[in-house]
Amino acid sequence: MSLHGEYDTDNIFAKILRGELPAVKVFEDDETLAFMDVFPQSDGHVLVIPKARSRNILDTAPDVLVDVISKTQTLAKAVEKALSPDGIIITQFNGAPAGQTVFHLHFHIIPRYDDKTMGDHAKGQMADMGKLNLLADKIKAAI
Ligand code: AMP
Repeated sequence: MSLHGEYDTDNIFAKILRGELPAVKVFEDDETLAFMDVFPQSDGHVLVIPKARSRNILDTAPDVLVDVISKTQTLAKAVEKALSPDGIIITQFNGAPAGQTVFHLHFHIIPRYDDKTMGDHAKGQMADMGKLNLLADKIKAAI
């Protein structure tokens, strides 16, 4: 899918928002949902999405963007407090050629640890659900 086009109401994150697919949630309010990435690039990889529909940063209403980036900061602080990483990458991709694979706006929070290499983007093994739940519990407790 390219940069422009209609919002696909059957994208994976739309289904998570409607409760049609499961997610390991770490935060939810009226505007925002944050959950664990199931193909994590590192321990504690969290995705933050607005509940409002948009494909990418270009077609997102400014007030929605302000809210979701603020919540991304809140979640990044919780990840820092919970997991004590050595660094944190925040990423956001727009359009398939840029690396976007799910076409509902989202920010990645990817903790980096000095002694661990980072996994590939949107590839690799699905996370162990027990481990993902433990990480989510720690992050939730730190919000
Ligand atoms: P992007 O490539 O920036 O669009 O990121 C999409 C992210 O969603 C990737 O990091 C995937 O690992 C992740 N992902 C795909 N399906 C799911 C899912 N069902 N639950 C949680 N994360 C997912």
